[in-house]
Amino acid sequence: MEDVDVVIVGAGSAGLSAAKVLRTAGLNFKLLEATDRIGGRAWTSSEHFGVPFDIGCAWLHAADRNPYFPEAQAAGWTMHHHDMNIDHLYYRGRKASEEEEASVKAADASLAELMEGHSGGDDRLGALLAKGRASRAAATFCGPMDFGSDEDEISIADFKAAADLEPNYFTREGFGALVARFGADVPVQLSTPVRRIEWDGLGVVCVTDRGTLKARAVIVTASPAVLAFDEIVFSPALPDAHMSAFFDLPMGMLTKLPLEIRGTRLGLKPFDDLLVERTARHDIYFLCFPFDLDLMVGFIGGDFAWEMSAAGEAAGVDFATNRLCEILGNDTRRHVGRSMMTNWGAERYVRGAYAAARPGRAEARATLMQPVAERIFFAGEHVAGPLIQTCGGARLSGEAVARQVAAQLTGR
Ligand SMILES: Cc1cc2nc3c(=O)[nH]c(=O)nc-3n(C[C@H](O)[C@H](O)[C@H](O)COP(=O)(O)OP(=O)(O)OC[C@H]3O[C@@H](n4cnc5c(N)ncnc54)[C@H](O)[C@@H]3O)c2cc1C
Repeated sequence: MEDVDVVIVGAGSAGLSAAKVLRTAGLNFKLLEATDRIGGRAWTSSEHFGVPFDIGCAWLHAADRNPYFPEAQAAGWTMHHHDMNIDHLYYRGRKASEEEEASVKAADASLAELMEGHSGGDDRLGALLAKGRASRAAATFCGPMDFGSDEDEISIADFKAAADLEPNYFTREGFGALVARFGADVPVQLSTPVRRIEWDGLGVVCVTDRGTLKARAVIVTASPAVLAFDEIVFSPALPDAHMSAFFDLPMGMLTKLPLEIRGTRLGLKPFDDLLVERTARHDIYFLCFPFDLDLMVGFIGGDFAWEMSAAGEAAGVDFATNRLCEILGNDTRRHVGRSMMTNWGAERYVRGAYAAARPGRAEARATLMQPVAERIFFAGEHVAGPLIQTCGGARLSGEAVARQVAAQLTGR
């Protein structure tokens, strides 16, 4: 392989955007992707339901700051503003009363206030939550379903640093398709995992199964879990602070359980939000019939989602179907058609949904924003400032880091 100015590891949202910035800056680069497609966690597929379905990211969060949003609009894609309010709440098999629903909204608002007023040390988010059912339902949304982690595994400081993601939009054509469209003109070498990065001499040497190439700098966009698992060996080893930071940013999990529902809307409207709370954990949220498609998309998150990954797809689909039958009647079962379960934990080059700092370890993100020896840079959703965990944030991170690299290499 020919030597270049910069190697970029990973052709997800961050890697693709970094490549575009380097190209504009007149630097030559090589973008190496381990898998056989671009997009990473942005991945739309019609394989399962015959319509575009996002296996990974789906909501265009923070649309007013999300560079993908104007691009989807300009392309004339079908957009839907999603308010993300719980429309239907069930406690086990029972529909919650209006008062109960109101108390969940109040619990949600009080969490925001508690967080605003929190000035103590960094603790578990769970420490801020009041006891009781309403508070649990609110915690489900902000913990497992949003942050991908249970509230006792989330750092308050990390949670606070994440921006409010309103306004949220969906696109019918798929967020993954939007990222693929964005990256379509970027040259990428697919199926080329980077195994080793040597940085003991000048610049870096990247070792892959298809050869070795030298560069003046490398931008690594692999998730912190991929790096914690030593999928890329650094030689010499990275500083301890960086290695610890990978472990302090474990991947949360969000698993989708889409069920095709044929011949009925079950009394629900397109884009209704339905939450089924269990008494302890194991809650499930359904996004109902997006774009009036025959789909109810179940979501489980946090520890429960990791457990379901081990139990397998059949167990996951049964769980989602049984919850629907429990609340809407057993007849629902005969309307269920095709189904699937996403499994991001088993994607070797991702290993989870997105990173959430351990309580007391929120500074790990800032650590990874520091380059090593002015030649190893990190970009991606895990270092995306207020838009952490999001695909738009990953893109902005890739752009910002590439600008930093370009300034350093060109002296401009
Ligand atoms: C189920 C789920 C739902 C989500 N929902 C939303 C949502 O609604 N809205 C939203 O904004 N975000 C959402 N996200 C998060 C969003 O998808 C990610 O934040 C974003 O796509 C991450 O982009 P990235 O470039 O940082 O990382 P990635 O997309 O992971 O890209 C990194 C790339 O690096 C490659 N790679 C790894 N190791 C190597 C190696 N050794 N050599 C070469 N290549 C390598 C990987 O294959 C991958 O393609 C969701 C994520 C999941 C999993």
